[in-house]
Amino acid sequence: MKTWKEEKAVAIEAVIAASKLCEHVRQKLADSDSAQKEDRSPVTIADYGSQAIILAELAKHFPDDPIVAEEDASDLAGSDQTELRNKVVLEVQLIDPTATEGSVMQAIDRGNYGGKDGRFWTLDPIDGTKGFLRKDQYAIALGLIEDGEVVFSVLGCPALPHMLDRPEGPVGCLLVSQKGHGTEIYNMEGKMVSGAIVDDNFNPTLATICESVESGHSKHDWAAAIAEKLGVTTESVRMDSQCKYAAVARGDASVYLRLPTRPGYQEKIWDHAAGMLAVQEAGGKVTDIHGKPLDFGQGQTLSGNLGVVASNLHIHDFVIQAIAETQDEFGPK
Ligand code: AMP
Ligand code: MG
Repeated sequence: MKTWKEEKAVAIEAVIAASKLCEHVRQKLADSDSAQKEDRSPVTIADYGSQAIILAELAKHFPDDPIVAEEDASDLAGSDQTELRNKVVLEVQLIDPTATEGSVMQAIDRGNYGGKDGRFWTLDPIDGTKGFLRKDQYAIALGLIEDGEVVFSVLGCPALPHMLDRPEGPVGCLLVSQKGHGTEIYNMEGKMVSGAIVDDNFNPTLATICESVESGHSKHDWAAAIAEKLGVTTESVRMDSQCKYAAVARGDASVYLRLPTRPGYQEKIWDHAAGMLAVQEAGGKVTDIHGKPLDFGQGQTLSGNLGVVASNLHIHDFVIQAIAETQDEFGPK
């Protein structure tokens, strides 16, 4: 069976380097370190720095591979962005002293692939920027897509506690997944520590459900209605970013719900590629809210899907049923 050995070595190193940059920026975060994008979502020097580092590494080792990444170099190019741009370059130089403004901008700009065929990478350099700014959870999510299928991924979770119920304990891990070969957990030094496996809970009433912190990203009252239908009594765990997928893949939670808040929103592939493979290869299941597999062959968005449900597999059908039964009241209209 096919493996992605070279991709794995390069991607692990790149995501660890990007994590270092992100944690360094986060320690001394100032207001001038972030800006607002056209859609009014926040972006920080760490988003651009993380994208620059990872895309430069991919360009070095896989020069022919196209990449679709979240950030756009043109947002950083204008004279009004000089301060932000200089800070990005300085942060990247702490990781790679040979970097220049030109090389950084060129690397960021490589993430503009607009196609959907063949082999390409997808990157969210900081997923959960709002969580990053709040000093909560965020993820660095890198996935490789071949012919519409996610086949390899590294999901970096630099601030995720090793045990969710011990937030003061050690933090940080990478989930490394290859199609057909499982999900492995690495520490932030790049050493494999264990395999990831979903929980073995068959009883929906015992499920721990996770959802977005942001009610604009996933409908909280709908999730509460679904939990009630399932007979779940414990409160949902609210967490930013694809760390929710990591929680399901590691068996910390049985379900991750992403419930559409408004009609017409299409999920971005970089928000789901790495997380989905991590859960699937840990033995779980990922579909949209109607039980349909996520289709990564449609371009930059999951245009053929609505919302996302990730689970330990055993209770997936119960969740899809509970969604169907509550959709008329809570679904997007
Ligand atoms: P989370 O941290 O799970 O709340 O998700 C963060 C991601 O939500 C960001 O990377 C955005 O791409 C994405 N996002 C932005 N607006 C929406 C929306 N209306 N519905 C779902 N996701 C969204
Ligand atoms: Mg994101």
